[in-house]
Amino acid sequence: MRFTVSPETLLQSQSESSASTAPYSPEDFDRVVMSTYGRFPLSLERGQGCRVWDTDENEYLDFVAGIATCTLGHAHPVMVEAVNQQIRKLHHVSNLYYISEQGRLAEWLTQHSCADRAFFCNSGAEANEGAIKLARKYGHTVLGIENPVVLTANASFHGRTLATITATGQPKYQKNFNPLVPGFHYVPYNDIAALEEAIADLDQDTRQVAAILLEPLQGEGGVRPGDRAYFQRVREICTEKGILLMLDEVQVGMGRSGQFWGHEVLGIEPDVFTSAKGLGGGIPIGAMLCKSSCDVFQPGDHASTFGGNPLACGVALAVCETLEREHLLDNVRQRGEQLRAGLRAIAQDYPQYIEEVRGWGLINGLALKSDAGMSSIDVVKAAMAEGLLMVPAGPQVVRYVPPLIVSEVEIDQAIAITRRTIAAL
Ligand SMILES: *Cc1c(COP(=O)(O)O)cnc(C)c1O
Repeated sequence: MRFTVSPETLLQSQSESSASTAPYSPEDFDRVVMSTYGRFPLSLERGQGCRVWDTDENEYLDFVAGIATCTLGHAHPVMVEAVNQQIRKLHHVSNLYYISEQGRLAEWLTQHSCADRAFFCNSGAEANEGAIKLARKYGHTVLGIENPVVLTANASFHGRTLATITATGQPKYQKNFNPLVPGFHYVPYNDIAALEEAIADLDQDTRQVAAILLEPLQGEGGVRPGDRAYFQRVREICTEKGILLMLDEVQVGMGRSGQFWGHEVLGIEPDVFTSAKGLGGGIPIGAMLCKSSCDVFQPGDHASTFGGNPLACGVALAVCETLEREHLLDNVRQRGEQLRAGLRAIAQDYPQYIEEVRGWGLINGLALKSDAGMSSIDVVKAAMAEGLLMVPAGPQVVRYVPPLIVSEVEIDQAIAITRRTIAAL
């Protein structure tokens, strides 16, 4: 049986559905959507480049980018084209079959990193779950550990599933969700003595360390860059002990650091790393990548229905190729320096409020003093009223994560709005 839709029916259904795309009131929204987020009273309707418009046609400079996700900004022609082409051709098939787009994306990622293989999923948490499963199987089958432990850092963030909130070294994400998943242990970030001590302590036990999972730069934990000397020593320790070094590149990877991957800034190669946020430029996709030497997964060990489907992979590949073709890493480094210089000048003029400015490339934080009398959310709200969207990274840090295509003029505008906002508070 063939289904045909006449052009008239199509037009009619389009005009009918336009009524249902009218702004949806916050009251109605809160009645039918679970209240898992503390939302701002803002509803965005469309975007173009680094700008977005709300339902009242107010314009904002978007330095949130879906939280470090919209790599190419909004409505980028490459993404529009990639989505269009792929949805017309083939958007989803099962991983029971070979998927060309997935193969090509894996090829690009492995050619542009130290990894040899990729597993695709749909989010950062899921990518980290995959890495944790890989570490456990590696612990059992290669290292002969009965109770493998994954070491993670205090103030880290690895996602919202049960295993990843357990991996996350912040009690606020774990409260009321116990029993947590066993097999994790926490160490202070950037502290090599504490790490060596924890490994030695656990070695006395049957709970031995199979892997260390760290962010190259802690994003949610307050935009805290990893220390080069620390990470180089962690790499040595992992190599000496045969432990897997796994890096969570979900926020800092995909060019945001000014290199393709955060571990390039640190001058090390991990055994496993994860990517998500910026990978699809806003189309949901996650990936776990590893060296072939630690790929212990066999058919049946891990899977995802949507993971690596033609639509997500086709778009992600277009995003990756655009990063390279348009030399966006140069832009990330230059705009990042421009932004930090501008924010540091503000910090110098308002030392009573601002502790420091820190970050890499286009992931930067304005850290407020604990006695500044204002929190990150106060600054974010005030800047929003001035037409600049930013996102807190904890109670004291305002985070700047614009699209990687952001221009010199847009950075200057963001600096000017930040200055006005701080001056007025
Ligand atoms: C956002 C984030 C995650 C979780 O990603 P989701 O796609 O929300 O599951 C994990 N790790 C880091 C470092 C992140 O920034």
